[in-house]
Amino acid sequence: MGLDIIVGIKWVPNTTSVNIDPKTGTLIREGIPSVVNPHDLTAVEMALRLKDKYGGTVTAISMAPPSAISGLEHVIGMGVDRGILASDRAFAGADTLATSYVLAKVIEKIEKYDLVIMGHETIDSSTAHIGAQVASWLKLPYIYYATDIEYEENKESIKVKRILENAYEIYRIKLPAVVSIAMHTFEPRRIKVSNKLKAKLENVIEIWTSKDLNLDINCAGLRGSPTVVSAIDFVPKVPRKNLIFQEKDPKKAAKWLIEKLLEEGLIDP
Ligand SMILES: Cc1cc2nc3c(=O)[nH]c(=O)nc-3n(C[C@H](O)[C@H](O)[C@H](O)COP(=O)(O)OP(=O)(O)OC[C@H]3O[C@@H](n4cnc5c(N)ncnc54)[C@H](O)[C@@H]3O)c2cc1C
Repeated sequence: MGLDIIVGIKWVPNTTSVNIDPKTGTLIREGIPSVVNPHDLTAVEMALRLKDKYGGTVTAISMAPPSAISGLEHVIGMGVDRGILASDRAFAGADTLATSYVLAKVIEKIEKYDLVIMGHETIDSSTAHIGAQVASWLKLPYIYYATDIEYEENKESIKVKRILENAYEIYRIKLPAVVSIAMHTFEPRRIKVSNKLKAKLENVIEIWTSKDLNLDINCAGLRGSPTVVSAIDFVPKVPRKNLIFQEKDPKKAAKWLIEKLLEEGLIDP
């Protein structure tokens, strides 16, 4: 029977090409191309590996402006079967609570699913809130930092390996569940042109607006966002000491380096 999997992907500004205005110290956002959040490609790769092994379907979902269609086309190029974009002016200005609310409503509407997979975090906001919040809206179990998932069809559960600082933990979780994948777990596969053509020719991407979803509009977008951003776009000033030690003897140089790091409180005695 396989697993029906939903993967959350976010369309983010490609921060590797972000420049800072030297006068104002603020980010120059104009003309910055967007990409699929790189950690979400890892999540897509996990979903596709599960599909390769056990069969089933993979649906990618995103809440974003219409330009994010390109992101959905990208993951369909990797092998995802279907894309759903939740896009509506009413969703603009959403904090993580309002974003996760809309994503949960999209997932509810999809109805037939076993597993929701999210990336570790995004490269633009990096809160890592969304997986836990979506699970909470849907009242589903949630596990994060996963590096491997095995499907136990007879038990309607998954075995999840998750990484900690110096250990692995193994969990068995009843399906349906939400799992976030630890960053850099897999190298995402390349896209196939034939798959991308499918996205164009077979209408496998749908756009859902607030009218398509059974939601309380007061919980979406800016209206549903309790977070207040008090300041944005400042570049923290990091004072540099520029200490250079020219000792040639490696033992003395190492001793000096350790002393300096201890002085700065950067390592424990
Ligand atoms: C007051 C306020 C206003 C904001 N207004 C805007 C705005 O107008 N436009 C805007 O783009 N951002 C806006 N943001 C930022 C936005 O709320 C977050 O980017 C968003 O909620 C996701 O949080 P994150 O990027 O930290 O995701 P994380 O929690 O770090 O993401 C974890 C994982 O969740 C999934 N995920 C995250 N976001 C999405 C998504 N949108 N669709 C599908 N899957 C997703 C991915 O798998 C991702 O790897 C605003 C934030 C605040 C506080």
